Amino acid sequence: MKLCRFGEGRLGLVDDGQIRDVTAALDVLPAYRYPLPAFDPLIANLDKVMSRVESIAPSASPMPVSSVTLLSPVANPGKIVCAPVNYQKHLDEVRDDAALHHHNTATMAPIHSAGLFLKATSALVGPGEGIALRKIDRRNDHEVELAVVIGRTANDVAPGDGFKYVAGYAIGLDITIRGPEERSLRKSPDSYAVLGPWLVTADEIPNPGELNLRIAVNGEERQNSNTKYLILGVPELIEYASSFYTLNPGDIIITGTPEGVSPIQPGDVISACIERIGTMEVKVRAAS
Ligand code: MN
Repeated sequence: MKLCRFGEGRLGLVDDGQIRDVTAALDVLPAYRYPLPAFDPLIANLDKVMSRVESIAPSASPMPVSSVTLLSPVANPGKIVCAPVNYQKHLDEVRDDAALHHHNTATMAPIHSAGLFLKATSALVGPGEGIALRKIDRRNDHEVELAVVIGRTANDVAPGDGFKYVAGYAIGLDITIRGPEERSLRKSPDSYAVLGPWLVTADEIPNPGELNLRIAVNGEERQNSNTKYLILGVPELIEYASSFYTLNPGDIIITGTPEGVSPIQPGDVISACIERIGTMEVKVRAAS
């Protein structure tokens, strides 16, 4: 199933370029009161929501995906976990280019020693909201990444068990200001985490370790690789991350970017595509 969020917080079922408004399925969610839970309520109740979606979708009239503003398919993730250098060729290009590494040794270490970092959840937007660049006198880059949405509480996951905790997948853009500061600062301005175009539930992607992914800027291809080149694959990342902290439903892991990162500027239009997920177009502007 492909589920999107669009417009003013509506829920949509995506099929063949069409969206059916299934917002009424959210009525199955329990009413949460303050203090709010540390997980995303929709993802934590995904099975219940999906079964309600199935029953109401046939009576919802389809509309073209292109007619709506797509939001992040996960509204309230507890954290956005990021793999810094998880493709060998991207690590090679960072080590070779001072404009990318800024003599910051933490950016030149392989993932086994670099570990993971977090992006602020306030950075999260959907493709329809666009990217608002800050520090435009500095280099801002796109990074296209397979994003994993955690489906159930994962703590100290045993080797080989990682897939049991996946709710689904989406395309993630890890927008990045290059420079000497900590990654979490340079990668966390508002809108620097794009998730979309929708959540594809895990049953539709039995092997996330063999998906083409690419990104073009203004029609020109910049990155084109395959998740088979991930150093740590999806289950290994879940195992590794959960050895440090609990992963909650709705937490997002972006798995790292392949080679080909390049600058973006206000006015650019990004098109990102991952096999079996889809394509999303994202406009770039200057933050006002
Ligand atoms: Mn990244």
